[in-house]
Amino acid sequence: MEIVRSQRKPADAAVAPALSLYRSAPALEVRLEDFELYAIDRLRVLQGISDGLSRGKKPEEMEKLVSELWRAQMRHQDPSEEMNKDIISHFVLRLVYCRTEDLRKWFLSMETSLFRYRFRLESPESQRLLMSEFQLPYKAISHAEFETVKDKLNQVARSTGPSSNAETLFFKVPFEEVPELVAGRRVFMLKGFAYVAMNQVVSLVATQFRSNLSKALVLTNRKWTSTIRDKEKNRLTPIVEALSTGYLGPDYSQPKEFSEIALKDIDQLASTSFPLCMRHLFDKLRETHHLKHGGRMQLGLFLKGVGLKLEDALAFWKSEFSQKVGAERFDKEYSYSIRHNYGKEGKRTDYTPYACHKIISSTPSVGDHHGCPYRHFSEENLKAALGKMGVGGRSLDDILDKVRSRHYQVACTLTFEAVHAASCDSGINHPNQFHSLVEFDEVKRSCRKRLDGHNRRRRKPRSAAAASTASACLLPLPPASGFSMYLLTSLSPPAQPNLAGIARAEKDAREQRSFSHGYEEGEAAFCRTATEQCGVVDRPGF
Ligand code: SF4
Repeated sequence: MEIVRSQRKPADAAVAPALSLYRSAPALEVRLEDFELYAIDRLRVLQGISDGLSRGKKPEEMEKLVSELWRAQMRHQDPSEEMNKDIISHFVLRLVYCRTEDLRKWFLSMETSLFRYRFRLESPESQRLLMSEFQLPYKAISHAEFETVKDKLNQVARSTGPSSNAETLFFKVPFEEVPELVAGRRVFMLKGFAYVAMNQVVSLVATQFRSNLSKALVLTNRKWTSTIRDKEKNRLTPIVEALSTGYLGPDYSQPKEFSEIALKDIDQLASTSFPLCMRHLFDKLRETHHLKHGGRMQLGLFLKGVGLKLEDALAFWKSEFSQKVGAERFDKEYSYSIRHNYGKEGKRTDYTPYACHKIISSTPSVGDHHGCPYRHFSEENLKAALGKMGVGGRSLDDILDKVRSRHYQVACTLTFEAVHAASCDSGINHPNQFHSLVEFDEVKRSCRKRLDGHNRRRRKPRSAAAASTASACLLPLPPASGFSMYLLTSLSPPAQPNLAGIARAEKDAREQRSFSHGYEEGEAAFCRTATEQCGVVDRPGF
């Protein structure tokens, strides 16, 4: 049985903030399954924030985005458990993202943004409660002091937009503690102090939140490397390690029902619906008739995911490799691994196509062609490759900007949008998603090309120009047609992404058991070995 207690028991529930400061891990129990699922839900929120920020959304748009993401991902069927889900998922992700400098940086930045936008959504009373929980050493200025600086405060308030009036509380803080207000000239300063209005305190608390979390992540990392990782190597460690590279979108391990591809169409498909990473591998294979192991795995599993049957895959690889190594050597040395990928050899595992995270974090060496071109190509090579896809001008500049700021998946999304003249709000998280968005309609569960042919026969004749556009890329149809609406709808992210892409190897074992887990004060206690330190037990058949 799951036993969970709320972390906060406020006297006045109406005022109680829904936002936690995550100061210490709470003493509660969680099933192993929830340990992972809650973390995945929170990761989706953080990933959405990351995408929104890198797409340059304005603060008001971000506020809306965060509240939508939170509603969609962090709801619990039992509303009283929502705060527990929030807290548990945060502490699980601390473990996941404490492990390297890059992971810490990303997590710190996304969690602070999430905190900032959630704080803004709280009522003023809740905000005041949160401030007092932070124990910030600032007091609201007295009425007498307010009268002496009132005119200046009004001047600043008028120039910054949101009004502050006589009822507004102001806090006097050392100016270096609100750098973003100072940099944006949004605060009145006098003798080294900034007068921060109640509607601006989010800057103050977000700075404090970030600083606390930053220290906590360093401590968690020390504990993770010194004790937790080894103690939990058979239970939590595989989950924690899989979560930072896990893919959060649909499962592409099996081709879609209608998405089988024929060998004769493969060149055409490569030029119209493969993402750059796969197009590059495909071209290199055609050119050199060989790919090293990393390339064979990346392209081979992708092709399997888009619907290339095993017999066709064997024929395809053989036709290329035999030109270089001969048919006999291909049969002896290479065909086994292709059958292995399709679950026909060895452990008979049905392998999953690689997601962007995995491809981007791979480290190709000289002679390798796998990896993500946005991450692994030089700028010159990337420009040339994008030029071949017909991307130029402003779109090319935008893509290169994203690459320079290391937003590789956003760059890939912008490429999709430039090439197919359609928006992709869900962002590209998986090479097979790129293919699927062009070729396959998730909503009507049918192939765009077949559907297009069917609909064209039923539609009234349209202008030749519009018809040729439709047959060229099947996406940018006139907005007035019902079909256009349908295609655009199909570009929305799937409503219920499944989780099969995450840690598939560990899943079966985990399904057989779950555990309840005792929290103690501090992050380390969160995942100490249950039986040894927290009285937690593995319980089969939970
Ligand atoms: Fe491939 Fe993903 Fe890189 Fe796009 S972002 S090129 S789909 S790995």
